Amino acid sequence: MRCIICFSPVLPSVDWTTFLTLQKPVKVCLQCSDKLSGIEEPGCPQCGRADGAEVCYDCERWERSEYAGVLTKNVAVFSYNEFAKELVARWKYRGDFTLIEAFTEAAQKKYKNHFHSMEADLAAIPLSKERLWERGFNQSEALITQLGASPLSFFKRKGSEKQSKKGRMERIGGENPFELIGKPERPVILVDDIYTTGMTVRHLGRLLCEAGCPEVYSFTLFR
Ligand SMILES: [Zn+2]
Ligand SMILES: [Zn+2]
Repeated sequence: MRCIICFSPVLPSVDWTTFLTLQKPVKVCLQCSDKLSGIEEPGCPQCGRADGAEVCYDCERWERSEYAGVLTKNVAVFSYNEFAKELVARWKYRGDFTLIEAFTEAAQKKYKNHFHSMEADLAAIPLSKERLWERGFNQSEALITQLGASPLSFFKRKGSEKQSKKGRMERIGGENPFELIGKPERPVILVDDIYTTGMTVRHLGRLLCEAGCPEVYSFTLFR
């Protein structure tokens, strides 16, 4: 077995217990898993950032804006540190699709801890046609599949994806780039790779809330 991140050999510790319990093969070496920094609770209870234990300044600001109440909380698995940035670049932009397996186990565990008892739909964030074509896959759908669920398409993108080229302040007042095409009847969990400013999940959350969705959460690999 080789580590799927750095390709160095990972020696499985084979003894009778691992043999009898059919333990899952280790996909990531110790050095790499040390560099992936899992977010331990508490953090900001609303956006899931790792530092602090109270609602952070960014979330406070959101709750004073027109987006107040549209997102109950975000749960994130890892901190978006330098190592994570490199991995995301490899995974999303350089076509190293199998890297997702490096995050699966931790993502499943975190997801289960927070949402296991909840009857909810997992919604994918749509990419524009151009993005999807460049990338070859939708990272949000891929994550939902890793969580053992089927992604639901509640949204459609309006026009092209210019949002990321604008600054944060411009985006806050910006037009909602999505429209709702499904009918949310249960709580919805929006699944994405990274929570950066929180704008995307709030755009989507607002559409869901306006359509009567009882509650909106988000689950991201990184924060
Ligand atoms: Zn490694
Ligand atoms: Zn926060």
